[in-house]
Order: sequence, then structure tokens, then C-alpha cells
Amino acid sequence: MMTSFVNIPEGSDFPLENLPYGVFSTKSNPRKRVGVGIGQHVLDLAGIAQLYPPEVQDALNSDSLNLLMSLGHTAWNVVRTRTRELLLKGSVLEENLLLAQSVLIPQSDCELHLPANIGDYTDFYSSIHHATNVGIMFRGKENALMPNWRYIPVGYHGRASSVVVSGTPIRRPLGQTLPVDGQPPVFGACKLLDFELEVAFFVGGPGNQLGERILAEDAWKNVFGFTLMNDWSARDIQKWEYVPLGPFTAKNLGTTISPWVVPVAALEPFLVDNFKQEPEVFPYLKHERPFNFDINLEVSLKPEGGAESIISKSNYKYLYWTALQQIAHHTVTGCNVRPGDLMASGTISGEAEDSYGSMLELSWRGSKNINLEGGATRKFLQDGDELIIRGHCERNGVRIGFGNCAGKVLPAIPL
Ligand code: CA
Repeated sequence: MMTSFVNIPEGSDFPLENLPYGVFSTKSNPRKRVGVGIGQHVLDLAGIAQLYPPEVQDALNSDSLNLLMSLGHTAWNVVRTRTRELLLKGSVLEENLLLAQSVLIPQSDCELHLPANIGDYTDFYSSIHHATNVGIMFRGKENALMPNWRYIPVGYHGRASSVVVSGTPIRRPLGQTLPVDGQPPVFGACKLLDFELEVAFFVGGPGNQLGERILAEDAWKNVFGFTLMNDWSARDIQKWEYVPLGPFTAKNLGTTISPWVVPVAALEPFLVDNFKQEPEVFPYLKHERPFNFDINLEVSLKPEGGAESIISKSNYKYLYWTALQQIAHHTVTGCNVRPGDLMASGTISGEAEDSYGSMLELSWRGSKNINLEGGATRKFLQDGDELIIRGHCERNGVRIGFGNCAGKVLPAIPL
């Protein structure tokens, strides 16, 4: 058992086995810099970059994770191994008390920022239970899954500019909706604001050149790490606008991610078998190695001034398509992906009703109530509601967590 000289409270999201990356600043030093979460502290990597090999120092002195992401697996292992060494009892960092005090900063004193400059953001639709539920609601049981769904990791190109870090409030959007079929649309504030429970990964490594592709078998080199994500969705706007080109303004009002990027290396102890795929997929989508993870996911809703209620418990392992298959399909045309690109899973629902990853499913299209502590109910989100997604892995006495992915709903701009 490895022990750190930094105090790590029981049940912390950030033990030595995790070491997630983030970008932070403090009041006394407003420069954005790269840090690692450890216990209740952030380890300021810029402040100790000189203790790392020269080839990674520029990346640790950067104001985003993009450069580190671009360096690839060997460099990631170098940084991770060295960070762990430095945090162990008896390390050169512990011995240099003044330095240790200056680079171990309480998280409560830190402002966390978006971890990367996100060039492009893509959202998939990879949970078979979610796709089936939505299909049943809108097309009936017989045609629940579209004919392409088991062949293609379905997705759409999202909007990177409105991806925000946890804690950023989200304004209820304005838009066109069609309250009554056959009548003209109306303009106003969204009435059916929803969340989507998702997990996203950041692309790492050099990526690929335009015109080249990445096979699923090789795509592990291109996954840097994972964050939690809430893909805020305006269901009434979506319903009117999505034909025939898919989601647009119903999804660009804000997308929240957790500030910490959990490296793949930290998730490897929690690998599980890939979801059984039937029929067999095309060769470019095949990969031997498991790339599915047992990540417990939990969604809480906290009304203004009220208590938190857990409204869903799901798991990343329910995904049908893996991140490696998502990359392979994304690039199969020769589309280039770059370090810092964000790729999201799509809503992650399990089979059980309490594991659904959206209010659309939990309230079954508004036909039933979602019960909250204290007797309140919801079908969709109200102004002042805070939505909090949490995630953790636990096996053989080791627990690692993702930190929070939270956001509060603000009233719409007055018309
Ligand atoms: Ca989504």
C-alpha cells in the first residue's frame, strides 16, 4: 500500500491511485496553471516542473492541458509516475518543506477552470438502453432502435464554445417550440429543460492528419482521460428543430464538464468486459482489449433552498460502443481529431428505471413525477434547480472519484 505524506481523508475522490489533472488559479496567483488533485489539495505542477524530466516541463508550465495531452502515452506515464513519487512519504518534495507548502494548495482556495482549450466537441449516442427508451417514446416498441444503431456509433458534431466548467450557471434558453401539433410554433422560454448524464473523454496523442484514420485497435493511444458531463437539453425546442439535421440550439445553450480529467491509467484497475455486440461490427470498429469501465454514476437535484435528492444511479459500463470505437468511426472518413477535442458518450441509462440518465426518461416524457426529498416533484428542471453529477470507481478497497459536475438553472432572459 502506497502512502502519501499529504493527508487523504477516508473516501476522498483523490487518493494516490487517482491523480487527476486540472487547470486552476488562486486569488494570490491568478495565472491559470496545471495541477493534480490529491486529497483536499491541488498539487501545483507548474511550481515543481523543474522536478520532472525536461521533455515534459513545458507542458506542466502551460495554462491548459492541451500540450500535455499532445505528448502521448510515454510522456503521460512519465508525468504520472513522477507525480506519484513526489507525493510519497519520504519524497524529495516532502523533505523540502517550504516548497511543499507552496505547491500544495487547499482546493477550497482554488478556482478550477476548463481543463483544456476544446477545439471540437462531439456527442455520441452510445447507450443502448437510452436509445431504446427514446425510440419507444417517439416511435413505439417495434421500431425503438433505428436500423443503423447497432452498426454505427451514432453521434453529432456539438458546440465547443459553450462547454463550461462545473459551477457555471446555465440560463434557461429561449427558442421556438410547437406546443400543439398542427398549430403554428410559438416563441418563448424553454419549458422542458433537461439534463443528460454523460461521461466524456479528451483526445490525446498527436491525433491524425486529415485524410488518415485511426482504427479502433490503435485508438487507445488517443484517449487521454475522462470527465463527467451534463449535456443540458431543451426538449421542446429539440422536438421542433431537429428534423432533418439533428440537434442544434436545443443542445448549444451550455454543456457542463467536471474540472478534473481522470487519466486512463487510473481507470485501468476498474476495467470490465466490453458490452456484447450483436451483430458483429465492421473490422475498423473491432478491438481486442477491453475498454469499458465500472464507473458508478449518480445524479442529484437540489431545488433552490432545498435538500439534494438522488434521482438516478447509472454506470458507464452500460455503454454499447466503446470510446475506441467512437474514435474509429469519427475518423473513418479521414476526419482529423486533435488533442483537447472532447468526445461524449451520450446519455448513459441502465436497464432499471432508477438508472435512467435524463428527466425525459425518468418522467417518461412528462407522464409521471420524479419525487424529491420534502415532497417536491419534478418532470423537468425548474429555475433555481441545481443538478449535480458525481462518479466514482471502487474495487479491492481502492476508491477513486471524479469530483462534481454541477450547474444551476437561471431564469430565461426576459422577452
Ligand atoms: Ca447528449
